[in-house]
Amino acid sequence: MARTRRPLTDEEIQEFKNMLLQKKDEIWQAIRDDLKSRVSEEYYSLINDVNDEEDLAQIDLQEEVILGVLEARKKELEAIDQALWRIEHGEYGRCLECEDWICIERLKVRPWAIYCRDCKERLERLGKV
Ligand SMILES: [Zn+2]
Repeated sequence: MARTRRPLTDEEIQEFKNMLLQKKDEIWQAIRDDLKSRVSEEYYSLINDVNDEEDLAQIDLQEEVILGVLEARKKELEAIDQALWRIEHGEYGRCLECEDWICIERLKVRPWAIYCRDCKERLERLGKV
């Protein structure tokens, strides 16, 4: 894969901003769908009619699953918000670690990336990300 490391043009930044905003929108829709399907009528009736320990265990498990899904979505949203913040502050597209430009091909796949591929791989090996 080609690696194009250079400052982004205003048009490109605008394009990434649109991608990020669209992704944010998708995540909120996914959260809505998750909640709609997981926090179902069936689940409400379970909460309202706890009969035994097995019901409680079932509720517990269900809550873990729902909160786990939300937690993952929250992380995605935070990464996007951070990228949007960096756009507004003129820092978008630079690696947080080495301060070199993140290659554009990488940003097209992960517009919320904050590390260049080399740093990301190194940090991953060190278990820091
Ligand atoms: Zn880097």
